[in-house]
Amino acid sequence: SVPAAILSALSAAARGGVLFKGGAALETLATVQTFAFDKTGTLTTGRAEVTRLLPLDIDETTLLALMSGIESHSEHPIADALRRAVELRGLTPETVTDVTAHPSEGITGTHASGPIWAGNPRMAARMGADLTHPALAILQDGSETVVYLGRGDVLLGAVAVADQPRATSREGLAALRHAGIKTIVMMTGDRRPVALRIGQALGLSPQEIHADLLPADKVRLVSDLAARGRVAFVGDGVNDAAALARADVGIAMGAAGSEVALQAAEVALLSENMDRLAAAHRLARRTAAIIR
Ligand code: ADP
Ligand code: MG
Repeated sequence: SVPAAILSALSAAARGGVLFKGGAALETLATVQTFAFDKTGTLTTGRAEVTRLLPLDIDETTLLALMSGIESHSEHPIADALRRAVELRGLTPETVTDVTAHPSEGITGTHASGPIWAGNPRMAARMGADLTHPALAILQDGSETVVYLGRGDVLLGAVAVADQPRATSREGLAALRHAGIKTIVMMTGDRRPVALRIGQALGLSPQEIHADLLPADKVRLVSDLAARGRVAFVGDGVNDAAALARADVGIAMGAAGSEVALQAAEVALLSENMDRLAAAHRLARRTAAIIR
């Protein structure tokens, strides 16, 4: 039977918006030495904004209509940003079919004009598109995520998308450090300059920031960290379900995250407040001390 101390801790955590799948997850969280965080949708709000548009072969309206058309099939925060940008302008997304998601790269599909894609430099390289157009330089200055749109190997344009840290991310990480967690890392499929802007705003050092990762790279990094002690991975499930599953404790952003995150995780954070995570960790430690 489950000790009364654990049952009461589980219900106290639940009142704070942290749901454990069972007492074992609470006990494991008490022994965690490393916290690894996904960036987009986890440490950041996931409510990205389209900040700049750069149409190359087409006009702005077509750029947005094509991009939102292909992204309407995606649950990535970038897709959400495009959806809101076209709504704001009263535009209608173009119809795109045969859509395939390429995790941490982008998305491909078929439009009446031909095969189109949207994504990062890795996706552009896969399609043979050239990203050296001089007009791209200002967009690539480093602080925003650049999403490219192409048809085959022709680059049609790009948009810049900016996401912001959650208001409580910085204090949440500080509280974990205060509790004695020595290793905290951020992992992202986004480019390093963007990762540095967000990570450093949250008090992370450059060595704690891992960028340009594919989903499998996140899993490998979690495994590397696990060789030195128990690891908790906190993610929203978009491209990080495997890392959530690999960690000793997977912690899913419950309200903002995806269904797959909740399946892969042992803990769900229903609150978007990162302080609640640190509070649940303290509670897990106190409970372990009582039952030991
Ligand atoms: P994170 O690890 O921070 O959560 P992801 O792994 O989800 O980030 O995405 C990494 C990068 O892959 C994004 O910054 C973007 O450049 C590209 N990407 C992923 N999904 C999409 C998409 N649906 N449309 C365009 N680009 C995408
Ligand atoms: Mg994410």
